[in-house]
Amino acid sequence: MNHDDLNAWSKRAADWVTAYHRDLRDRPVRAQVTPGALLDRLPATAPEAAETPEAIFADFEALIPGALTHWQHPRFFAYFPANASPASMLAEQLVNGIGAQGMLWQTAPAATELEQGMIRWLLAALDLPADWTGTIHDSATTATLCAVLTMRERALGFRGLTEGLQGQPRLRVYASAETHSSVDKAVRLAGLGQENLVKITTRADLSMDPAQLQAAIEADLAAGHRPAGVVFCAGGTGVGAFDDIAACLPVAQTHGLMTHVDAAWAGSAGVCPEFRPLMAGAEGCDSFVFNPHKWMGAQFDCAVQLMRDPLDQIRTLGLRPDYLQTLEGEEVTNFNEWTIPLGRRMRALKLWFVMRAYGLDTIRARIRDHVAWTSELCAALRAEPGLEITSEPRLALFSFALSEGCTATEALLQRINADGRIYLTQTTHRGRLVIRFTCGTWDATRADVMETLNVIRELR
Ligand code: PLP
Repeated sequence: MNHDDLNAWSKRAADWVTAYHRDLRDRPVRAQVTPGALLDRLPATAPEAAETPEAIFADFEALIPGALTHWQHPRFFAYFPANASPASMLAEQLVNGIGAQGMLWQTAPAATELEQGMIRWLLAALDLPADWTGTIHDSATTATLCAVLTMRERALGFRGLTEGLQGQPRLRVYASAETHSSVDKAVRLAGLGQENLVKITTRADLSMDPAQLQAAIEADLAAGHRPAGVVFCAGGTGVGAFDDIAACLPVAQTHGLMTHVDAAWAGSAGVCPEFRPLMAGAEGCDSFVFNPHKWMGAQFDCAVQLMRDPLDQIRTLGLRPDYLQTLEGEEVTNFNEWTIPLGRRMRALKLWFVMRAYGLDTIRARIRDHVAWTSELCAALRAEPGLEITSEPRLALFSFALSEGCTATEALLQRINADGRIYLTQTTHRGRLVIRFTCGTWDATRADVMETLNVIRELR
């Protein structure tokens, strides 16, 4: 395949993508395939001789779409969305075509400076302090790992990097049980050990109890441990819990702890002033991650970490071997020093395209619609006999269950997902299996959301 073929097939691919999105509602949302079915249809080894684009494309059409769960399906109500707007897809096509690798300013000045510009736009859009800075990672998991590594090094006076963790005081990180498992993963991978992630009891509204945080820190100090940081939950994955950051922050600050907010899903809602109170206090924290790929239309992958001051993170993660030295020295930002991988995709381009093509107004309107339709659906389901709302809507997420019990609820979920018109997933809430509903796909409409009611009525 040469560049002329690329041109012709790119047009063909663009037509295919247009039809794919147009007809998504005709496809079952969740892949209806059995494990191994696709693998069994692939040859065991790569071809020795070149194959034609026609043959490759025909196999793509025959094998791949049918074996996918369709994340851009307007009735994808599972997990959290990974929404892709047309402007984002266009930007990603250009990024793919350019194939730049932005590890250093010098290797892609436009990537670095566009990233700096988009961070500035996002800080303003979320009404976070204008003198903060930030970077774009692949995932919230990476951003949280970077933050926890920085907590570790701050607490150790940056000796862990060189001396290792042997013989160091036992470091403690605090979070509520509502935080995502990426916090557990970060604590494990940072070498702190799962047992040193202290899960603080939550209040009735599932927010971290500041008095319990205070008590846990004091108990750890009395035991000779060293508190390192707090990770706040702003929009938990299970049922959308929010910590009262403003209430807990003074506790963390009194003890000089670094603070990081995981707002992977809910952070995008900060573009709407009316939703910002849910995250009040975030502006006083050290670090804040959110995924525009979840709810802002800048498709996967795009996780933005906003930071009060990046110096400790750079000191923790940055290395500058001889082969990465450049003439610009300290004059420029080399974003590889802010994160874990050396190589970096140009993720800022899709943010630039999305914010310009739609404007913040359109993004706000979409998020508001998703929140309103979710509430409307929740109210309709509440009126269904034998069905209980198990957690109230937090932005565009609520959960429900059948009064008959977990077995009936689970069986309903299986029927729903085998049916394919909508896709829902489950979690455990207050010891009970519940079905989550969340809405956020770019092309979702009110009718798509309300179709959930019809499907549930029909399949109960
Ligand atoms: N934090 C929260 C609240 C999440 O819901 C998720 C994923 O859904 C993550 C973190 C992890 O996100 P990522 O896939 O970007 O690592």
